[in-house]
Amino acid sequence: MFHYSDILMAMRQATVRSEDPGLASQPTGPRGSTTVQRVLAVAAHPDDLEQLCGGTLARYARDGHVVTMCTVALGDRGSYVESRDSTAARRSMESRSAAARLGAELIQLDVPDGEIDDHDPALVKRMVDAVRTANPDVVITHNRACFRSAIT
Ligand SMILES: [Zn+2]
Repeated sequence: MFHYSDILMAMRQATVRSEDPGLASQPTGPRGSTTVQRVLAVAAHPDDLEQLCGGTLARYARDGHVVTMCTVALGDRGSYVESRDSTAARRSMESRSAAARLGAELIQLDVPDGEIDDHDPALVKRMVDAVRTANPDVVITHNRACFRSAIT
């Protein structure tokens, strides 16, 4: 887990948005709304987002919203038969493929599985940078009670 206060602070600081005429000209939005939302979905591993909220992200993207997916860990311990490097490479490619199909941006922080340290200032900074890049109106992430959030 991350320091949510840091992430919230980054979200508050990210109030100045660049005007994108491409987005402004799209009359799409949820249920007929003309407001384009910026959505950031953050999960521990490649495939977490696809499994946990892929449908929601697909719907946001379909409706013209800007979706950014962020995975923190490599997923390199996700196989008993592949090497860690091979597993990480395959899962990264799968994430890129999923994001491309959704029309989402993808940020991969590439921390080895089991090495996510929410007290690591460098990782916290990278997470804050991801939030600032995505500049979200909506954040979707693990519930604190989710077993996946304890895999850090
Ligand atoms: Zn996972």
